[in-house]
Amino acid sequence: MATRYDVVVVGSGPGGYVCAIRCAQLGLKTACVEYWPTLGGTCLNVGCIPSKAVLESSELFHKAGHQFAKHGIVVEPSLDLGALHARKDKIVEGLTRGVAGLFKKHGIDRYEGRGVFRSATQLGVEPRSAADGGGGGVPDLVLEAGAFVIATGSKVRDLPGIARDDDRILGSAQALALPEVPEHLAVIGAGVIGLELGSVWRRLGAQVTVLEYLDRVFPTADADVSKQAMRAFRKQKLKFKFGVAVQRAEADADGVTVFYDDDGAEQSLRCDRLLVAVGRRPNTDGLGCEAAGVALDRGRVVIDDHFRTSTDGIYALGDVVRGPMLAHKAEDEGVAVAEIIAGKPGHVNYDVIPSVIYTDPEVAWVGETEQELKDGGVPYVVGSFPFLANGRAKALESTAGMVKLLAHAETDRILGAHIVGPMAGELIGEICVAMEFGASAEDIARTCHAHPTLSEVVKEAALDAGGRVIHI
Ligand code: FAD
Ligand code: NAD
Repeated sequence: MATRYDVVVVGSGPGGYVCAIRCAQLGLKTACVEYWPTLGGTCLNVGCIPSKAVLESSELFHKAGHQFAKHGIVVEPSLDLGALHARKDKIVEGLTRGVAGLFKKHGIDRYEGRGVFRSATQLGVEPRSAADGGGGGVPDLVLEAGAFVIATGSKVRDLPGIARDDDRILGSAQALALPEVPEHLAVIGAGVIGLELGSVWRRLGAQVTVLEYLDRVFPTADADVSKQAMRAFRKQKLKFKFGVAVQRAEADADGVTVFYDDDGAEQSLRCDRLLVAVGRRPNTDGLGCEAAGVALDRGRVVIDDHFRTSTDGIYALGDVVRGPMLAHKAEDEGVAVAEIIAGKPGHVNYDVIPSVIYTDPEVAWVGETEQELKDGGVPYVVGSFPFLANGRAKALESTAGMVKLLAHAETDRILGAHIVGPMAGELIGEICVAMEFGASAEDIARTCHAHPTLSEVVKEAALDAGGRVIHI
């Protein structure tokens, strides 16, 4: 006999677990099926959280060796990589347990194993594959639900000719847990993962070479941001090879040889570890979408504006559907889907989803880039201000970068903001709120910002958009 729920969520990442909690809050009898023994998905287990933990540790290590002396603090730091990983693991454990606690608190039933659709109305829960250690699954268990939510996330995108072995040739999860600092780490892809994890190992002492197909870092960022960030990364002695197409890689006992095409000529690079960071792909393998009649487009679940798949009663959200692969986007979709299922008007404003890259300097943006405004023929003004002229940034010894604000030339409405600099990820929040309220650049310029704070750089950029910058 099948066990019946109002809602069954497949996947417990930030999209799935938030959706399950919101469903339960709305009085729906809810279950969540998760393949792994811990909850929280990519984000909590092998993504956002562990990467930010090691970014913080490695930044402190680097500062102790290179910046403390400027403050008159003389130390000779040495690295205990085991302790660094143990701290990271403890943070992950605390947060994943926290999600389990939230499930208990909200009365959400949890099933461990692979959710596999048997039909449009039935989902089996099968054991983990032997390659993943086996376990989980409930023999003959079939779940039925008024609504299913596919929140199965994404996984590493592979390149033809590059066989990951998780030892020499790595995905991001293995690059977060290396047992020693590599002498030379090569990274394919100058995107978010490439630069965040490349920075970690560079700060801990590795030589890092990034191979990128295009001609700059963070290809989707505003060009000025990309330029300034690259300047800072070069100062940190990260090496780049742009405009190269990686073709294959050969691993042996001592390292990896990477072969790439540079202007028609085959070149090679020797490193001891290679990180593949060329994007992620939706996770729909083995989910039984065919049996449920759920349409896919190149592995991605197709949804309409209300998160409905091609099958009635089955919804999808997060990395497995269109849009940026970001945890906060997945979370907001989780809430919206729960509210839609409960008969409420769930909604996500895709125009105001911030992106943050936790390198040093940090990079953050929201809204349109300058190029997008040009391409769209939108009249705009630019206001910008450097961290170099900010007192708090000087005290922090972190003056690289700027805030760039884009506002409509006629209405002054804020259309986008692009920040490179200290705490960019925190500063962008003010602009997100302003944009949600339809604010103008002048609204920010006339708001009192505390002194001395980094947020004064946002205010000055807004003043600059109105042609009345004060401190430069
Ligand atoms: P996921 O978090 O991928 O969760 C999906 C879950 O579904 C997984 O636990 C999976 O095991 C489970 N699952 C899959 N198939 C099945 C099945 N058939 N049955 C049962 N369970 C299944 N984003 C940010 O916003 N900020 C960051 O700082 C950030 N850092 C990142 C760092 C790294 C190294 C990586 C890899 C990603 C990072 N991301 C970051 C992206 C972020 O992790 C994802 O956007 C987010 O996790 C997507 O959430 P999700 O709920 O859609 O899917
Ligand atoms: P990405 O899309 O950020 O970057 C991939 C890079 O690889 C791009 O610059 C692309 O041009 C390059 N590339 C693609 N094919 C290539 C090839 N054959 N040779 C050389 N370069 C090639 O992808 P990612 O860094 O793997 O991250 C995956 C996802 O995870 C992203 O969507 C991101 O949103 C998410 N993520 C977010 C954060 C964050 O929010 N801080 C952190 C990590 C990951």
